[in-house]
Amino acid sequence: MISHTTTAIIAIVVIIPLSSIAVWNTAQSIELIEEPLADKKIIALASFYPLYEFTNEVGGDNVDAFLLVPFGVEPHDWEPTIQDLQRIQRADLILINGLGFENWIQDVTSINPDVIIVDTSNNISIIGESRYDSEKGHSLYGKSFGDPHIWLNPIMAKIQVENIAQSLIQIDPENQKLYSQNADSYIKKLDLLDNKIKRELADCKKDFISFHNSFSYFSNQYGLNQHTIINSNEPHGEPKSKTLERVINLAKDLELNVIFTEEAVDPRTSQVIANEIGGKVITLSPLEVVDSQSTYIEKMEQNLSNLKEALCN
Ligand SMILES: [Zn+2]
Repeated sequence: MISHTTTAIIAIVVIIPLSSIAVWNTAQSIELIEEPLADKKIIALASFYPLYEFTNEVGGDNVDAFLLVPFGVEPHDWEPTIQDLQRIQRADLILINGLGFENWIQDVTSINPDVIIVDTSNNISIIGESRYDSEKGHSLYGKSFGDPHIWLNPIMAKIQVENIAQSLIQIDPENQKLYSQNADSYIKKLDLLDNKIKRELADCKKDFISFHNSFSYFSNQYGLNQHTIINSNEPHGEPKSKTLERVINLAKDLELNVIFTEEAVDPRTSQVIANEIGGKVITLSPLEVVDSQSTYIEKMEQNLSNLKEALCN
């Protein structure tokens, strides 16, 4: 007589080899189907989140896009790991914001001299110093060029998307139509975003205090006046008490009731100012440190609604 336990053991023994074969078969067939496709994919590394998303939107299934600066890391501070360097060696394209935002880019080109660096700031008029070395006449990625925060202006983001499409068309001209269509449909979404921002901020107040100088291009586009707590293109450092005092007085003069903070900084800095004016602290995201949960457009819509809370009440 076979006991209940023995039956169970036999069942397990029988089931395990069967499921192993099933797994093995699946693995085999995945390999067979995916290998040739994977070979054809363009390996594109994006320096930070907005460019990663734009690249995925434009490249679709033809492109394997990777994010160099991982989620939750401040890109002004990032340095490549060994694993990143290995990935860089295999990459076809590296998409950068340009304007000095990626100060590690010179190191990257020495690892993989064949990689194509796509400076997505091409054709965008910038605030600050010139992007070109007047003597050599070419772009110097590693140098500081003034304000890099072009991605926060949807009109400039459209040009970045176009630049990404052009770079993909250049290395994969067979799929020109696909990349152009993908870019166009994403650009339509950016147009909708632009219209929404224009419309919803039109009748509101203009002055606001952001944490660092990240919303200059955005402010120029929508007729706003950006003031800052940290007067710098990078969100570093603790403001001196003299600076805080100046910002508090400014906030009082402008009759503000919202002081902005951003993801990767100590919110207490903004809170000190908000307390002095009886206002509150809200996040205005430069999209430099983002989580994987929300898209560029969702983040920008969140920024719009936070700006409305500050300006339209
Ligand atoms: Zn910044």
